[in-house]
Amino acid sequence: MVGKDMNGDGSILDQVRRVRQLHEKHGEGLMADENVRALVLSYGAGIEETGAAMTREGIGAACSACARQHPSGCCFSDIESGYDDILLLLNLLLGCPLPEERKESGSCFFVGERGCRLVARYYFCLHYFCPELERSLGEGRIRALQQQVDQQLQTGWRAEEAVRSWLRARSTAKREDELP
Ligand code: SF4
Repeated sequence: MVGKDMNGDGSILDQVRRVRQLHEKHGEGLMADENVRALVLSYGAGIEETGAAMTREGIGAACSACARQHPSGCCFSDIESGYDDILLLLNLLLGCPLPEERKESGSCFFVGERGCRLVARYYFCLHYFCPELERSLGEGRIRALQQQVDQQLQTGWRAEEAVRSWLRARSTAKREDELP
């Protein structure tokens, strides 16, 4: 049931609710800002490029096969606590809804039937290649993927900074409006 705290999910559910409210309040304004919009879209393009590179290397298929054998695997429970509000907000700005409940007990809150339900992911989710993948792909191909990931993380960081500054400016302006 949505919102029912069966897995000790109170804090992540609170965070998801808080980020949704932030999006409802500021999503349109953020994307109406030319600079923020350009950086968010550039981040989205970087995510797609990384996704294409991972698909070419068969990473998704290998991870899905492994996850069927080791359900909690790399995406273990509580790893979702590494996400901050702004990165989750970027998912919403990129059109990716945030889940309302944990699908797999013992796994990350964001795991779904077909893998991760986020598009904007943090460093650990992107940068970790298990020893099995490292062995099968070899050093050169892993390095190329890591470079692609680093580019995505850099565009993500720029988008995060732009969103943060925009929100900071709004909250400063609001406080000044409230001054007597
Ligand atoms: S990739 Fe997605 S599901 Fe896996 S740990 Fe990261 S956020 Fe969770």
